[in-house]
Formats: sequence, structure tokens, C-alpha cells
Amino acid sequence: MIIVKVGGSLGIDYDALCRDIAALYKAGEKLILVHGGSAETNRVAEALGHPPRFITSPSGYTSRFTDRETIEIFEMVYCGKMNKGIVERLQRLGVNAVGLSGLDGRVFEGKHKDSVRSVENGKVKLLRGDHTGTVEKVNTHLIELLLDNGYLPVLTPPASSYEGVAINVDGDRAAAALATALKAHTLMMLSNVPGLLREYPNEDSLIPFIPATDVESYMGFAQDRMKKKVLGAAEAVAGGVGRVIFGDARIENPVSAALSGKGTVVA
Ligand code: ADP
Repeated sequence: MIIVKVGGSLGIDYDALCRDIAALYKAGEKLILVHGGSAETNRVAEALGHPPRFITSPSGYTSRFTDRETIEIFEMVYCGKMNKGIVERLQRLGVNAVGLSGLDGRVFEGKHKDSVRSVENGKVKLLRGDHTGTVEKVNTHLIELLLDNGYLPVLTPPASSYEGVAINVDGDRAAAALATALKAHTLMMLSNVPGLLREYPNEDSLIPFIPATDVESYMGFAQDRMKKKVLGAAEAVAGGVGRVIFGDARIENPVSAALSGKGTVVA
């Protein structure tokens, strides 16, 4: 089982990704695709007059402040445009893909965090009305039903809170939780960089290998959103996933390239 997480950053080639996934699926590989949609969400939110608001937590993680209006825009883009765009590409390539959010069948469940701490001008502020959380539980039954019947699941945030409220969750960590729950041999996180870079943004400074026992000590190389990927990788390998690969989603055959060891391999 391979879990492919593809980001939502600019430069990602979804056509090339879907061609590669279709070829692997037809060759008998069991695959699940998890995707993001951050750049397009920002664009649509601006266009709708509700621009994104990013906050930095006291521990240095950047995230999107998600009020009710934002989660609705988020759903339009992630569950709508992005998810159906990928499902349509796969269907055209002869793959029976099914697109679901974490709300559907409560595939991704977690605790709703209504308030969040944000560092602004050196001061810590408490913001309320947030719709965020972290995936704590993956309900694999629906996914297994689909896989056992030849469908290819295409999953996306949001997740469901325990009360059934939509919550914005990090896609990388959701994919890590899914890979752990399904005991996947490989989790790959594809984005618009070749992998984890020692001197971001110098693409020649790729870190090719990170030992699974030592992921935390590489955290310092990751800035802003890359931190969540390294954190997700640490969680996945600690949870029993065979290997995690940070790979490039801007190239032809991005999944096959990562499978052959291109990118940053955590094992
Ligand atoms: P996606 O939405 O595609 O999953 P993110 O934007 O969440 O991707 O995270 C990937 C981004 O992290 C890259 O586009 C890059 O700008 C940034 N980044 C920060 N530090 C690093 C690093 N050390 N190596 C690679 N990318 C990094």
C-alpha cells in the first residue's frame, strides 16, 4: 500500500501525477491519494473578499486561521475544485477514483480546537472561532470497502470533529495518520520542491536520506510549512510505516521517481 500526499502549492503538475498514478494502479499497485489546495484556496478567498489570515504559533508553526467563512471557502476548493479535478483526470485515464473529504464517513476524525494562540508583534494573542484540529483517529472501514472493490480513494481535508463539525487539519499529518492506520509500506509527500533542502531554497542542497531514528534532528532545516511534513514523517515512521519520501511533484512520473529513491527518503 502506497499513500501519496500531494500538496496544493504552485507549480505542481497534476496531469503528470495522475498519469503516473493511473499507470501504477493499472499495474496492480494499491494506492490512495491525499491532496491539498492551499494556493487555490488563497486565490479564491481573495476573490471572494475574505483574504486568508495566517498565524504563527508560539512554537513556530504557521497555519491558516479558519473561521466559519474560511472553512466554507476551504471546502469549495479542497472538496470541490481540487478534489473533483483530480477525480476527473483519473476517470479520464480509466481509473475508478472516488473523491471523499475526511468528513465523509468520518474518515478523518479529531478534536475541534476553537481557540488558537498566535504571535503578533512579539505578543501572544488568543484567537477564538477557529475551525481547526489534528487528525487523531482514522476510520479505515470505508476506505477498505473502496480498495477491496477496485476503487482508488482520493482524500482531502477537512476532517470531522467528534461532534461532526468540519475542521481544517494539516494534510501531511492526516496522510501520516492514514499511512499508519493502514500499515502502508510507503508514504510519499510530493510538493513543489525536490525534497527537504539543507539550505532552502537552494535546490542543489537536497538531503537524500534521513535515518528514521533521527528525524527530529533534521527539523531545523525545515522552515514554515515544511515543518509539518517533517513532523508527519516522524509520526509515520514511529507508527510503523516502512519509509516516507519527500518528492518533487513538478516533474513527469513524480510517484515512480520517488519510489526509485529520488527525493528525501526517511527510513
Ligand atoms: P504543499 O502545500 O505542497 O504540501 P507546503 O507549502 O505545505 O507544501 O510545504 C512545502 C514548502 O515548504 C515548499 O514549497 C517550500 O517553500 C517550503 N520549505 C521550507 N523549508 C524548506 C526546506 N528546508 N526544504 C524544502 N522546502 C522547504
